[in-house]
Amino acid sequence: MKVTHFIRAAAMAGLLFTLAAGCTTTDFVTGQPVQNMYSLAEEVQLGGQFYKELVSGLQKENAPIDQDPARVALVREVTAHITAVAHITNLPYHATFVGDPDFVNAYALPGGNIMVFEGIWNPKEGLVRTVDELAAVIGHEIAHVNCRHSTEAMTRQMLPNLLLAGGMIWATLEDKDDLQLLFGGLMLVHNGLIVTRYSRADELEADRIGMMYMAKAGYNPEAAPRVWERLAGASDSQLAKALSIFSTHPRDKKRAQELRKHLPEAMALYQAAPIKRDGARLLSTLPPSTTPAKPKSDKPKAD
Ligand SMILES: [Zn+2]
Repeated sequence: MKVTHFIRAAAMAGLLFTLAAGCTTTDFVTGQPVQNMYSLAEEVQLGGQFYKELVSGLQKENAPIDQDPARVALVREVTAHITAVAHITNLPYHATFVGDPDFVNAYALPGGNIMVFEGIWNPKEGLVRTVDELAAVIGHEIAHVNCRHSTEAMTRQMLPNLLLAGGMIWATLEDKDDLQLLFGGLMLVHNGLIVTRYSRADELEADRIGMMYMAKAGYNPEAAPRVWERLAGASDSQLAKALSIFSTHPRDKKRAQELRKHLPEAMALYQAAPIKRDGARLLSTLPPSTTPAKPKSDKPKAD
């Protein structure tokens, strides 16, 4: 190995290790050390930027945003009750209601923005039917925010890719074709397998933590497994097709089983909650939707 190459490789390794070490922080939910290259303040800023872009995209499609007072109020009320008992209470949480009855979905953006689409309680194919079930979905999204899943996933993809890219550069400098191939292969394995496996683990964590949040906030947590059981039973229906976001998630039946395992713990939190909400209320009892009818379009489903 030439001395200049060695110095370059050593400098790069040093830089990458410093970068990795500088990312270590404590997970708010588990209390365990975790890698995250974003501070909470940076995460809020990043999420705010995503939110602006998402809203301007929706506005271009004439999607009604926050225009249905009864539903906007309900989504905000549930969000406020759940965020009050979450691990990170000082985030600028904000819930947005999008009156798109065809889009069965909800999102959490890093830093505290929650988006709920009207299709989530569409009476024909909707995923949720009661306030408790809506709280299960919102609890899941708020759990993603508290677990900081988005920025942890971004960090997880960034660091090994930087290390492997460093390895590839070194192998190129050293004319080691076989090592170059090896590092390239490892990058593919990392991105294909490890990242996917973690995203499934993140979903199960958000399911479990979200169920604890809803219970602490006074919503009956029995609604959480029920939502996933409904989805599992709808494997070939329009509902399952509409829920493109869940296609990469763990199998719905498995999610419901995992939730049932943790249900006794959640029920104990619910029994101890100082206020019990009127969560059995059917969403079909809300005043009629004020969402204007929109022309049908074939817009692709986001995920
Ligand atoms: Zn999720």
